[in-house]
Order: sequence, then structure tokens, then C-alpha cells
Amino acid sequence: MAVPFRRTSKTKKRMRRTHLKKSVGALTTCPKCGATLRPHRACTKCGYYNGKEVIATKEKEEN
Ligand SMILES: [Zn+2]
Repeated sequence: MAVPFRRTSKTKKRMRRTHLKKSVGALTTCPKCGATLRPHRACTKCGYYNGKEVIATKEKEEN
């Protein structure tokens, strides 16, 4: 089995890992309130999904 001749330096390791980033992923906007959302998820701001309220939001509970 091949073995590395030298230990990879801190700098070389860090230079390689600059390309390892976590992506934000796909995002859409809520058609009701305009908040940024992940697709196929209910809106966390207004609680709407597909034109219906599917989650009771804090504002609604107070009224
Ligand atoms: Zn919304």
C-alpha cells in the first residue's frame, strides 16, 4: 500500500479545504408574505403552504 512521503502541512491542508464549503441550497420566496423559504416547505413566517394556513402562527394565537 502506498504511504504518503511527507505529512501534509497546515497551509496545504487549509488551502485544499478552502473548496470544502457547505452550500446554502435551493431557496424560494413565499407568495403570501415574501419571506425566503426552502421549496416544498410551509412558510415559517405566515404558516401558509399551497394557499392554505397549515401552521398556527404566534400572531394568530394572540388574537
Ligand atoms: Zn409566508
